[in-house]
Amino acid sequence: MNEHDLVVIGGGPGGYVAAIRAAQLGLNVACVEKETALGGTCLRIGCIPSKAMLETSEHFWRAREEFGREGIRLAGVELDLPTMLRRKEQIVNTLTRGVDLLFKKNKVTRYLGHGRIEAAGQVTVIAEKETLSLGAKHILVATGSKPAVLPGIQMDGDRIGTSTEALAYAEVPKHLVVIGGGYIGVELGSVWRRLGAKVTILEYLERILFGMDAELAAEAKKVLEKQGLEFRLGARVTAARVEGDHCVVECEGKEPLRCDRVLVAVGRAPNTEKLGLESLPLELHKKGFIPVNEKFATSVEGIYAIGDVITGPMLAHKAEEEGIAFAEQLATGHGQVNYDAIAGVVYTQPEIASVGQSEEQLREAGKEYLKGVCPFRANARARTIGQVEGMVKILADARTDRILGVHILGAHAGDLINEAVAAISFGASSEDLARTCHVHPTLGEALREAALAVAGRTINL
Ligand code: NAD
Repeated sequence: MNEHDLVVIGGGPGGYVAAIRAAQLGLNVACVEKETALGGTCLRIGCIPSKAMLETSEHFWRAREEFGREGIRLAGVELDLPTMLRRKEQIVNTLTRGVDLLFKKNKVTRYLGHGRIEAAGQVTVIAEKETLSLGAKHILVATGSKPAVLPGIQMDGDRIGTSTEALAYAEVPKHLVVIGGGYIGVELGSVWRRLGAKVTILEYLERILFGMDAELAAEAKKVLEKQGLEFRLGARVTAARVEGDHCVVECEGKEPLRCDRVLVAVGRAPNTEKLGLESLPLELHKKGFIPVNEKFATSVEGIYAIGDVITGPMLAHKAEEEGIAFAEQLATGHGQVNYDAIAGVVYTQPEIASVGQSEEQLREAGKEYLKGVCPFRANARARTIGQVEGMVKILADARTDRILGVHILGAHAGDLINEAVAAISFGASSEDLARTCHVHPTLGEALREAALAVAGRTINL
């Protein structure tokens, strides 16, 4: 039996980062992953391939719809979808191979197969041809999540499928119906809309992007509608099936929709099945999440969990953060995650990024706050790049001025938000941000202007 200090089950952003950090801190670490490629959903069939598709589809859209306005005339812009899909695959392959190299560099042993916990201290690796037993002083479950399913939806893994299929449609659908107006729905809906599909997003709630600041989400909806995305709110989908050469989607109290493809994006569920957890004295949360304490320890000694299998936002960077905190806790006794400083980004055009509390959350908590807003149309760089939609909104404690939330709708919001994350991590006030010299002309100046707006002393507004 191969013995390790730590066996990590799952080689996604949570698992591989935890394995590397623990190895750097001197532990003998192994990682069990059932897919040939490391990197998990994020690298193989999630964040990375979707961002590759978002980027290329945006170039196509711009070339056709926007370049003319800037004085660039292109004749015969054509889509070469096979090349676009190949480019995406190449990016994924390069990055997943990169994780293999990182494992080698950090001396993490990699096992290919399905990891199963037999008991505390013992993991079995079930591979195609053999089964291997590993001894593990500590076991970390980092098995991530899978797309949630809805009763009544007959997934055929092709025309009615999840984000995995929607990242690889061999041709542009004429009409794509997306079930769910969350992160995946608006991102992949945008991709296929830009490539020419009619896209209808059906959302159960009366708003899109639940969890994001409502004012920004409403503004984002308007901008996305201008790009041709169609939203139907308050639409609870009850069934979807393939009928001959088309799909039928049924919505409570509404006419059924006919389309040629359906993307189901109604959330994700933790991968906590077939891990051997059922035979341990460990009770899962109702929706399958693994309960852990602040050190990521489960109720069984020596077994821990991080990432999408525990509660909290299902985000790659949250899992990575937990991976590092877990490894440092295990090896040194110190390590923690600042959950107030985990941002969320939706990579539409413009992007939507958010960190800290939303206005609704502050109002609900009865917290007194001040609000500073800077629309991007007042920002010189936004004018020069021709992307003036959206705004920066800063929410600060009315008494102490400490920044409580920052919400950005605008070009490159996903990059801009990191400044706000750093500010919140360091406990900055809006005045700290307002007194920080920002480079001109940059989009980041909108953050400073919004911080100035908190105190009612803007210069450019
Ligand atoms: P989500 O939770 O963001 O959105 C799902 C939406 O589906 C919700 O708005 C919900 O109200 C709606 N819905 C549920 N049942 C429905 C029904 N019967 N009819 C109509 N609508 C219904 O989930 P997602 O978009 O599938 O994304 C899954 C996870 O992946 C998210 O937790 C997200 O954190 C993560 N993700 C993140 C990014 C990113 O960071 N950019 C991108 C993609 C996915």
